Formats: sequence, C-alpha cells, structure tokens
Amino acid sequence: MSQTDRNFMTLQFAAKSENESFARVTVAAFVSQLDPTMDEITDLKTVVSEAVTNSIIHGYDEDPEGIVTISASIEGDTVTLVVEDKGRGIEDLELAKQPLFTSKPELERSGMGFTIMENFMDEFDVTSEMGGGTSIRMKKRIVSKKALYN
Ligand code: ATP
Ligand code: MG
Repeated sequence: MSQTDRNFMTLQFAAKSENESFARVTVAAFVSQLDPTMDEITDLKTVVSEAVTNSIIHGYDEDPEGIVTISASIEGDTVTLVVEDKGRGIEDLELAKQPLFTSKPELERSGMGFTIMENFMDEFDVTSEMGGGTSIRMKKRIVSKKALYN
C-alpha cells in the first residue's frame, strides 16, 4: 500500500457530555469515505460513545477541564480509533473489562462499555496508568457497500 492510501484525523474536546454526540458523528463522517454499511456506522458510533462517556464520567469525574482526544486513521479498508484521556486511570484493568463490572453502580451504569467495544470491533486494547490516564485502541475492517453489491 502506498502512503497516499492512508488518511487520519485528530479531535480534541472538553470532557462534557454535550460533546459525546459531536464526537460520534464526526468519527462517522470521517469513516464515511470507506462507504460503510449502516450497521458498521452504528457499531462505530456506539463504541465512540462508550469510550468517550468512560473518559468523561470515569476518567475525569465530569470535570469539564479534562480533555478527550480521539484519533482516527484509515489504512486500506481498516479504521483505527484511539480514544484517550489524561484522567484518573484504571486500577485493575482485568476487573474493569469483566462484563457487568462497574465502579459507579449509583449512576446506574451497567458495566457493559468495554464488553461492547470488544464485541463490535475486530481489535480492542486498553492501556491505563493510575493518575496518568487511559487509552483505548480499536480497529475494524470496513466491508464497503461496493463489495457487497458487486
Ligand atoms: P456502562 O459503560 O455500561 O455505562 P461502565 O462505564 O461502568 O458502565 P465499562 O464502560 O465497561 O462500564 O467500564 C468498566 C469500568 O472501568 C468503569 O466502571 C470504570 O471503573 C473503569 N473505566 C472505564 N473507562 C475508564 C476511564 N477512561 N478512566 C477511568 N476508569 C475507567
Ligand atoms: Mg462505560
């Protein structure tokens, strides 16, 4: 693949819940150049929403001074998303990734965010440092509509 097949963008915004929809719509618009199906777009919007919500609610405890960064890149038919915060970090990653585990049951979280990200994407990887922040890296191959109709 030549360098020209690669495309990327970076988005930074305040950790405010109003920015969740902005983030997922922006990523969807960027990925639309791969001509994804409705299901693929829905999956991508959902994982962006889950990861951004986690950064805002858990990473920054809803402190709007926090900054969330999303990088998206396209290489061939594959999109890579990185959602990052510089918030509190995750103490026990293995526990956090368990389905139904939540540290905020009082907020009626269901503890399914990481499970959804893992299931909707082809690759999913979390790195986190206490006091340093959390980074979620995910990949998905887009089966373009053109491929389905040809
Ligand atoms: P749901 O996503 O279903 O509303 P949840 O956010 O609690 O509930 P997950 O998204 O699976 O569930 O996250 C599991 C746990 O991992 C969280 O409860 C929180 O303790 C921790 N966590 C996730 N993301 C972050 C983050 N960016 N910073 C700090 N802690 C996090
Ligand atoms: Mg969550």
